[in-house]
Amino acid sequence: MAIDLRSDTVTQPSERMRTAAAEAAVGDDVYGEDPTVNDLEAAAADRVGTEDALYVPTGTMGNQIAARVHTDRGQEVVLDREAHIYQWELAGLAQLSGVQPRTVDADDAVPTPEQIHGAYVKESLHRPGTGLVTLENTHNARGGVAVPPEPISAAAEAAHDHDLPVHLDGARLFNACVALDVDPARMVRDVDSVLFCLSKGLGAPVGSMLAGDAKFIAAARRIRKLFGGGMRQAGLVAAPGLLAFENVERLATDHDNAARLAAGLGAIDGLRVPEPDTNIVRVYTDDLADAETFVEACEAAGVRGGVHGPHLTRFCTHLDVDRDDVETAIDRVAGVVASL
Ligand SMILES: *Cc1c(COP(=O)(O)O)cnc(C)c1O
Repeated sequence: MAIDLRSDTVTQPSERMRTAAAEAAVGDDVYGEDPTVNDLEAAAADRVGTEDALYVPTGTMGNQIAARVHTDRGQEVVLDREAHIYQWELAGLAQLSGVQPRTVDADDAVPTPEQIHGAYVKESLHRPGTGLVTLENTHNARGGVAVPPEPISAAAEAAHDHDLPVHLDGARLFNACVALDVDPARMVRDVDSVLFCLSKGLGAPVGSMLAGDAKFIAAARRIRKLFGGGMRQAGLVAAPGLLAFENVERLATDHDNAARLAAGLGAIDGLRVPEPDTNIVRVYTDDLADAETFVEACEAAGVRGGVHGPHLTRFCTHLDVDRDDVETAIDRVAGVVASL
C-alpha cells in the first residue's frame, strides 16, 4: 500500500466521526439554527479564548473572509512573501477584496516589528494606505515552522501602533501550540482574528474555524454568505469537527514521526533534510534529481509526496501514518535514491 505523505489533509474520518455525522442534530445554519454548528463555534471560541467563532468550509475561505472584513478596497496587506494567503490562494486578496499585497521576507517565518514599520504605508492623496497585517503559524511553506508567541505578539504590537488589524493564518495553529507547549489562547492573544483548520492534523473531513471578537464574527458571517459559504444543515459535516479537538494532544506523535522521517531521510546520501519543528518534512534533492523526477520515483515505490520547489519535496505526517509506515517510507525512499 502506498504511504501517502502528500499532506495532512488526506486522512480518513474515523468511525466515530462518521457516526457523529450520521447522528448529528441539525437545523438551518444560515438562520443560526444548527445546534451542532453552534456547539462547534462555541467550542472553537473557547479553545482559542475569543468571544466568538464561525464555521467555514475551508481555511482559504476563512482567510479571505478575514481579509475582506478587515480591509477596504484599494488598501495594502502586509505579509510574508512565502505566506499561504499570498502564494496559494489564487490571488484571493486581489480578486475578492481588491487589495494589494505588500510582501516582506520573513526569514524567521514572522515579520519583525521593523519589517512591519518599514512596510507600512500611510494613506495619502498618492498612496493606498495599509489596511491589514497577516501572520502564519505554523508557517507551511517555510517548513511547518512553529512560531513562538513572543514574535507573534511583537508583530501584532507593531501593527497596532499604526492602528492596523492583524489576522493569523493558523491553519496548523495547534501543531505550533503542541510543539511549543503554549496555550492557544496565549498564542492568539494579541491578534484580531485567527483561522484554524479542522481538516488537517486534527483529522476532520471538512471545515475550518474563524475566531475573533463578536463584532468581527458578525461581519464575517455576512461575508461568508457573500462568498457562498452559508451552508444549511451543516451540522452533518460539523459534528466530526467537534471530535477533532480530541486529536490535538496526539499531534505530538505526528511531530515525533516527522522527526524520525527527517532523520532517516537525512541519513541517505544525496538528500538534504532540515530538522522539522512539526509535521512537515522538507527534502532537498539538490544534485540528485529535480523534485518532479524524485516525487514520481517515490510514487512508483509507494511513497507519495508533493513538489514544493524545483528541488524541494514535502512530506507530511498525519494521523493515518504510524511509526512502521515511517520506517517503511524511509526504506522505500532509500531504494529510490539508489536507483536515481
Ligand atoms: C492548508 C492551508 C490553508 C488553507 O486551507 P484549505 O482548507 O485547504 O483551504 C491556509 N493556510 C495555510 C497555512 C495552510 O497550510
